[in-house]
Amino acid sequence: MSKLSRRDLFKAAAGMGLGAALPGASQAAQGAKGGGPDGDQAGDLVFVNGRIHTMDERNPLVSAVAIRDGRFISVGDASHPGGQARVVNLHGRTVVPGLIESHTHFVSLANRPGYHVAEWENARSVAEVCAILAGRRAKGDVPPGGFITAMGAGTPRMFAENRLPFLAEIDAAVPDRPVFLYQGGGGPARTNTLGKAFFESATAPLAGPCVVAADGTIAGGNPNMANRALYHLRVRQSFADKMRSAIDAQLYSASVGITAVLDQTLVARADGSLNPALYDPQPTDALFTLNHYRMYDAWLQLNREQRALIRLQINFLHNQGFIAALGGLDKQLPELRERLKNQFPFFGDGMVRTGGIGEWGAVLALPTANPDNYAVWYEAQRLVAQARWRNENAQAGTLAAAAGSVPNTAPIELVVSTYETMDHDFGIQDLRWGLQHADYATEDQLRRLKNLNCGVSTSGFRWLGGNPRTDGQPIGPYYPRLVGSGIPLALHEDGIHIAPHNPFYAMHYASTGLNVFGQQVNPGQQISRQQAIHMYTRGAAWYLNRENEMGSIEEGKFADLVVLDRDYFSVSDADMRRTRAVLTVVDGKVVYDSGVL
Ligand SMILES: [Zn+2]
Repeated sequence: MSKLSRRDLFKAAAGMGLGAALPGASQAAQGAKGGGPDGDQAGDLVFVNGRIHTMDERNPLVSAVAIRDGRFISVGDASHPGGQARVVNLHGRTVVPGLIESHTHFVSLANRPGYHVAEWENARSVAEVCAILAGRRAKGDVPPGGFITAMGAGTPRMFAENRLPFLAEIDAAVPDRPVFLYQGGGGPARTNTLGKAFFESATAPLAGPCVVAADGTIAGGNPNMANRALYHLRVRQSFADKMRSAIDAQLYSASVGITAVLDQTLVARADGSLNPALYDPQPTDALFTLNHYRMYDAWLQLNREQRALIRLQINFLHNQGFIAALGGLDKQLPELRERLKNQFPFFGDGMVRTGGIGEWGAVLALPTANPDNYAVWYEAQRLVAQARWRNENAQAGTLAAAAGSVPNTAPIELVVSTYETMDHDFGIQDLRWGLQHADYATEDQLRRLKNLNCGVSTSGFRWLGGNPRTDGQPIGPYYPRLVGSGIPLALHEDGIHIAPHNPFYAMHYASTGLNVFGQQVNPGQQISRQQAIHMYTRGAAWYLNRENEMGSIEEGKFADLVVLDRDYFSVSDADMRRTRAVLTVVDGKVVYDSGVL
């Protein structure tokens, strides 16, 4: 019997009332294909004695759920299916649906060279960074000469000392393996003594050795030595290395509760070429520059082997503006045109599938600022509408830091009015187009987007880079306005270069307005924790076009849930920001288990 038909059977059975129509638990276990990361067959899984926030308003808080063949089959107090189910006593712990990140560049994290420690984004000091590096070494699986790496997301503002560790500090933590720390999306970087020796003598076809300062600093800027160092690591990555990195990244995601991501790709170079071989690593490539044709290969291979741990939905970002060498408007956007002709939207399986065009289909420009780029951008909107794909634009509007300044919402207005034109010309209301960030969207703009059946995924990353305004005005987003508009609404971090992946930072910011230094930067613009987590579950599921499969704990939906290490809903603000998973289930399988249950 195929997996699909079994699932349909269980769904139907669950609807009729649990038990009578179901095969025995042992049969179900034998019939389940695949298995978890360790290759075990997936059996029934029952959680009891919890505080399970389903995010289903008809049944918001239950104590038990039962899972079979990747789906919730019972949600409520009397849910034990009997048989050979593994029963997990939650001892009163808080459970929420698997969290969904609706705007990320996560596949970059899954391609990191070295034995990467994404965990460093949770460190609060140089000492904690060093402890995380030492912990990675202590696992015992990094071979001699193998690099321990931490890249992206970590910016000095996150650490009490407002800097990365120096060479001597890294040496003290990891004396016998090279270490490479790379800050944000473009460096600078730091290394230890063994790393310094490697980079100062490294050669590869496109670059020679790097300059490394005595304190371990590898400079960013121009020329960017940090990017050259990154190149030396990237060209030495094997496919097996990339698969290991992809697993590590997914495991980290599960540890912070994210069970599904909408990835916004990354584009190597927007030069109009359709030749993937041109996009292999270059010494000038920054961390966010990847071969956008090949960056999914390791993840796709893991999925073929049924080893993927979290769900991936792939949006296709197109970065091409006007390229004079291509000729007239009908020759512009070669990659987007091929994409729309040769790729299927929302195609794949439950674990990996395509999405739409996002976070943009072309470089957005106001007609007055750059008429050529505007014409190309407008043509991109038209092509996507004509092809009947999902479309997105990432436009925050801008807000000058000067006292008394008001947001410039002209870019959002351009997006909204163009969507209205596209709806008039092609009809887009069944396609659920989206606006990303939308931090300063007006009530009128939100109402018009809602009328077009569009959704918004707003940002939660200003906690990291945001500073208080001198006039005391909020820096945004204007969360209450967004929530009050009634538009389908998600919340994102936009990791994993400009911000971390950890969603609890975004939910903390949305509900407190506090930045990384504990300063109030968004006064009067807070929403409740319930509203914030709604955006990371129900709202995000709608945004991914998957509200019938994900976003709440309901019978028949994908069995994705997170057991939290504290009660997100009631702990202090400072504590809430530290929330982590103790156990995470995706597709009915335990993919992360800290061992406390
Ligand atoms: Zn982004």
